[in-house]
Amino acid sequence: TGFVDIDNVALRYGGEATGTLALSGMNLSVGKGEFIAVVGPSGCGKSTLMKAMSGLWPVTSGGVSVAGQTVSGPLSMVGMAFQAATLLPWRTTLDNVMLPLEITQPYRSEFMQKKSQFRDKARALLKLVGLEGFDEKYPWQLSGGMQQRVSLCRALIHEPALLMLDEPFAALDMFTREELWGVLQEVWMTKNPTVILVTHDLREAVYLADKVYVMSSRPGRIIHERDIEFARPRD
Ligand code: ADP
Ligand code: ADP
Repeated sequence: TGFVDIDNVALRYGGEATGTLALSGMNLSVGKGEFIAVVGPSGCGKSTLMKAMSGLWPVTSGGVSVAGQTVSGPLSMVGMAFQAATLLPWRTTLDNVMLPLEITQPYRSEFMQKKSQFRDKARALLKLVGLEGFDEKYPWQLSGGMQQRVSLCRALIHEPALLMLDEPFAALDMFTREELWGVLQEVWMTKNPTVILVTHDLREAVYLADKVYVMSSRPGRIIHERDIEFARPRD
């Protein structure tokens, strides 16, 4: 068994008769610290798989477990980033990165007490992704690639064991995208989270991941699995 185990999962949106069967016969096992990529055509169930893994959507049948625990609701150990950086425009870079810490502290006073510690943590992450000195900038003052770097920091701020990235670089031009591959590799090698990357870009998948899974639709399932060797330097 792995760190993430998807065991014969089916997931249907809506009712038995009329709903969409988004996943069926889905099996997947991801080792701790592994970096996998999931590719497949639009609508094949990639986002649905992420929702099932993170406990954001209940599966219809089969089992999902993470770190040996059955997933039955939203997991707190997951960090997520999406195609759109979805930063809050009225908040600075630093305050965007700290947002998950802010909203998960039960009391405002606790957050305020720990704020300088959190700030140091956020600054260290910004440095890791090459955004040192951008703390006080607002999202609209940053390029698309920079916004994605911030979004990556926000996903990492609570040190998630599991990092889920849903087409994080799809909106970026080719050059910026490849720059961000380097950033993501650096993040993965430094923090070593288990990474699930959903992408349309096969080159990106092969460049970054240990394993690439290809999904097919109607209903969504894995049709091909491939180990990537020598894709990048290893320790
Ligand atoms: P992707 O970029 O992964 O292809 P989509 O554009 O298909 O995503 O979907 C974006 C969001 O809309 C997802 O969160 C998905 O769950 C939701 N969604 C997709 N299709 C439907 C639908 N038929 N009914 C309701 N929500 C949907
Ligand atoms: P992908 O991420 O690969 O583009 P999705 O997981 O978003 O695919 O969608 C898989 C299938 O489930 C699609 O047919 C989509 O329309 C459907 N779907 C996704 N989200 C919802 C939802 N919230 N309600 C109903 N159908 C949905």
